[in-house]
Amino acid sequence: MDGMKLKGDQSTSRAMNRRLILNLLRREGARSRAEIATITGLSPAAVTFVIADLIEEGHVTEGKAVSGLSGRRPIPVEINYANGLAIGFKLMVGSVECVVTDLATNPLASMRLALADRDPENVALALAEAIPTLVEAANRPNALLAGVGISMPGVIDNEQAVCVRSHRFDWDNVPLARMLAQRVKVPVWLEDDTNAYAIAQQLFGLGRQHRNMAVLAIGVGISCAIIIEGKLYRGANGAAGKFGHTLYEEDGRQCECGKRGCLMAYYSEPAMLRTWRAAAELGAGHGLPEMLGAMGDRDPLVTSILEQAGVGIGKALANLVNVTDPEVIVVGGEAVSFGEALLHPLRSTMSKHTFRTAPPLLPDWEDNSWARGAAALVTQKFFDFETSSGTVGNG
Ligand SMILES: [Zn+2]
Repeated sequence: MDGMKLKGDQSTSRAMNRRLILNLLRREGARSRAEIATITGLSPAAVTFVIADLIEEGHVTEGKAVSGLSGRRPIPVEINYANGLAIGFKLMVGSVECVVTDLATNPLASMRLALADRDPENVALALAEAIPTLVEAANRPNALLAGVGISMPGVIDNEQAVCVRSHRFDWDNVPLARMLAQRVKVPVWLEDDTNAYAIAQQLFGLGRQHRNMAVLAIGVGISCAIIIEGKLYRGANGAAGKFGHTLYEEDGRQCECGKRGCLMAYYSEPAMLRTWRAAAELGAGHGLPEMLGAMGDRDPLVTSILEQAGVGIGKALANLVNVTDPEVIVVGGEAVSFGEALLHPLRSTMSKHTFRTAPPLLPDWEDNSWARGAAALVTQKFFDFETSSGTVGNG
């Protein structure tokens, strides 16, 4: 802790101690004050101060005493995740996936909201109107709404909470968080959807025990999030992780970004569906459920499309592994439902081209994982005081 004392500011060191203790309790579950002091290296007095604050705020509760080795009965303390609510909105073209969670991103209620158009004002209004419905559906009258997280595909300025550019929404410099914060009385965060999913993974998912990891999302786009030494890497312009726009084939298929030959123009979920429909001469009514059905029937065409996608994404992923050396790669996105038909060739191709042993590829995907990622933007603030404090409305 010596380095931290350099700041010489008591409130800063209190905040750092608070973060240290909350993150310990998040990773390890219930611990006594004495254990917390031992593990963190903080003085017992400092631990007692911080825990007293947290108990008063309702963020931490005391559990039942358990017998210790010395015969004393230390009282464990743990995070009271039920103390607050977080709302997560994942914006998609045409609809919004909405979820309300506790502070551990456990979903309490969810719904799908239709979007009539992409006009930013209309989107902000639709989100604002959904909030009371979600809070009521959570049915936790004593829990306060801690904030709202919005995630969407695009280049996001996380500090300013502005969507700098989204091809799918055709937005430039839309301050969506401010637009929503002016209508609601809680802080609002805005983040790239894959980054938000990675934050949820880091806090409460497979990334909880890893300081260096990558997250791969294969959905409407293909994207990566990279966590280096426990911190999400955003790049100089918030545009890091645009893995789907790495070059796959020169002068190849048209991509939504305006360039040609990007990886996602071939192997995003809609791109794979397009390939299938074209090759099998099927109509637009054939979507993911039908392709999954054909996969289940061991349709050779579908099997070979998924195989090819796995090989294509796997080669690119090997390059990413060789550059960033992650401990694990968590895989999410709608295409995870293809399961091993996609992931097996992906894994084996990646392994073939990595410099060292390839990291494990761990799928972790549920229907509302995107929206839970957005809710994690709210929860993240609770565990990391360096995170932006969220955008609030002007009165
Ligand atoms: Zn592209």
